[in-house]
Amino acid sequence: MFGFRLEGKVAIITGAASGIGEAAAKVFVENGAFVVVADIQEELGLKVVASIAGPDHRAIYKNCDVTVEKQVEETVAFAIEKYGTLDIIYSNAGILGPMESILDMDMEKGFDRTVAVNLRGSALCIKHAARAMVKRQVRGSIICTASSASILGGLGPVGYTASKHGLVGLVRAAASELGKHGIRVNCVSPYFVATPLVMPGMSAAGIKDPSAAEALASSAGNLKGIALKANHVAEAALFFASDESVFVGGHNLAVDGGFTVVDNSIT
Ligand code: NAD
Repeated sequence: MFGFRLEGKVAIITGAASGIGEAAAKVFVENGAFVVVADIQEELGLKVVASIAGPDHRAIYKNCDVTVEKQVEETVAFAIEKYGTLDIIYSNAGILGPMESILDMDMEKGFDRTVAVNLRGSALCIKHAARAMVKRQVRGSIICTASSASILGGLGPVGYTASKHGLVGLVRAAASELGKHGIRVNCVSPYFVATPLVMPGMSAAGIKDPSAAEALASSAGNLKGIALKANHVAEAALFFASDESVFVGGHNLAVDGGFTVVDNSIT
């Protein structure tokens, strides 16, 4: 669906070479934005750009490891250099980390690395995007991808759950401080989407086909067989990116078909 909800706006989307970020890059461009596709998977990122940029070059790739402050700072500068300003950053890059018990987790490769990408990476994106917005007096929008694991425990490895709970705190703290500059900070919290982030875990459990994984996930809670797609999450991010949400700040929007409000008690 085409529209003009982001006409002329400039956005950075991290983790845009795949999954939810890729879907968001497409939706943002379709709605008139110029998008920096920021990722560490250059080949995939360039493919995304080739598929959405169009004749007026509305998308461009930038290699950016969100755990490295200099690279995040350079990506913000790159967006401004290429497209003239920065209105939106969608800090979406994330990893699941190893599926391990808290009893024997690997603190460095598991917990620390997951927190570094999912939480520190977003802190760096917020810091450098907000610095540019404040300096340029842009009343911008900052969006992060949290997860149903920001609301419930036990949906993923402990490092993942901790990072996503922390992300909601980061979003609230940033929204509270940046509101006076007219900058809004919000996050979306998807339930299960069959992307490369989650499919290796499903394959290890014997479910190799994404549609079978979706069917299993959507049988939970009150989803009643509706499969959540990357595009549904992208549309929620679009709402936060657009001026339609001009008075919404510090919000964690569950995109989960009500999964996290289901009463799971035995009756
Ligand atoms: P994905 O694996 O398809 O995409 C994640 C992208 O992030 C990849 O392109 C990857 O290269 C990139 N990335 C990883 N580490 C990076 C780094 N250090 N710097 C820059 N980019 C990096 O997965 P996805 O499902 O689209 O995940 C996107 C976001 O959605 C993540 O934050 C994830 O935690 C969140 N999420 C996913 C689900 C799900 O079920 N898929 C559910 C809830 C939340």
